Amino acid sequence: MRRKLVAGNWKMHGLKAQLGEVEAIAAVAAAQPGVDVALCVPFTLIAPAVAVAGALPIGAQDLHEADKGAHTGCISADMLIECGATLTIVGHSERRADQHETSHDAWAKAAAARRHGLKVILCCGETEAEHDAGRAERIVQSQIEKSLPEGAHGDWLTLAYEPRWAIGTGKTPTLDEIASMHAIARAKLRNMVGDAADGIRILYGGSVTGANARDLLAVDNVDGALVGGASLTAEKFVPIIAAAS
Ligand code: 13P
Repeated sequence: MRRKLVAGNWKMHGLKAQLGEVEAIAAVAAAQPGVDVALCVPFTLIAPAVAVAGALPIGAQDLHEADKGAHTGCISADMLIECGATLTIVGHSERRADQHETSHDAWAKAAAARRHGLKVILCCGETEAEHDAGRAERIVQSQIEKSLPEGAHGDWLTLAYEPRWAIGTGKTPTLDEIASMHAIARAKLRNMVGDAADGIRILYGGSVTGANARDLLAVDNVDGALVGGASLTAEKFVPIIAAAS
């Protein structure tokens, strides 16, 4: 039985003025022992968030695949760990779109995170055009095939299915579509890592709110949620945590 994980992705939101939200979310998470909760904040907020988060894991949203070197503006796994991060997102569709990252980049970043002891939330998901062209399944299978790091195991790796057209739009796939895609992702994991696939959580992400979380989280093979906008305040995030409990 996989424990549910509800992870917040603050994206490029959050200054120290928002640390009260981190504290409030941490307090609720501590009172919900049946569900795992984590927050992935901007690099600049990792250390301040860790200072107020208690047992709530604080993560990053990206890292560089190299251990160190001449990579202006980039952040390494060790730097994240020194700030207190214990996990990182890799391969988010906004990085694929804005920074032209590929599944191979996501693979290298996931491997670097693992090498240094960070947990990983590895993202996959099709664009609207790919969805409309009926290519979603093949795209997601290919992304998993190209980005899943060696030795993938549920102790340190979580997969997140985030259809890009559902992110920040208020649109979500039907529950049947989500069930089908998560089953396809599970089958792909099984094909690649065998029985270890059963322990790897697959999160759904894209316009998750307090209003739809209960239905989404009840879908087969949906082991939690990766939440953007609705993770920015305790008021919006807490009902999603409650729905997963
Ligand atoms: P929204 O919840 O704002 O749609 O964002 C989802 C997401 O991209 C999380 O990584």
